Amino acid sequence: MSNGGQGTAGKTRTCPHCRATILQSSTACPVCRKSLRWDPHTEKHKPPSFSALKVEGSVKHPPVGETWEYSLMVSVKNEKGEEIARQMVGVGSLQPEEQRTFTLSVEVFTSQTAGPAKAR
Ligand SMILES: [Zn+2]
Repeated sequence: MSNGGQGTAGKTRTCPHCRATILQSSTACPVCRKSLRWDPHTEKHKPPSFSALKVEGSVKHPPVGETWEYSLMVSVKNEKGEEIARQMVGVGSLQPEEQRTFTLSVEVFTSQTAGPAKAR
């Protein structure tokens, strides 16, 4: 837990549109995709980002059988295998022959304002 004045790295705020917890540095909400008010000064320093991980998979109910219920969990572990976040993203149900596709994406933001990377 190094929080010794590392700038705004990891700071969060609440999306004014959908109330999701998002990164303070976000210029658009990743949940509702609406753009966020951004003051012109920081606009110039919009942090570059890239998609570090994307996993997509589908679950299909066979044509026969009873209704399925599902819950979608996401957990985040650190390098020691300790769970640092665990969240229920959604629940739902599947009728025979219905299908759901689940996508998990991790966007990484790099920014000078986010503080230096830990030097080794
Ligand atoms: Zn939103």
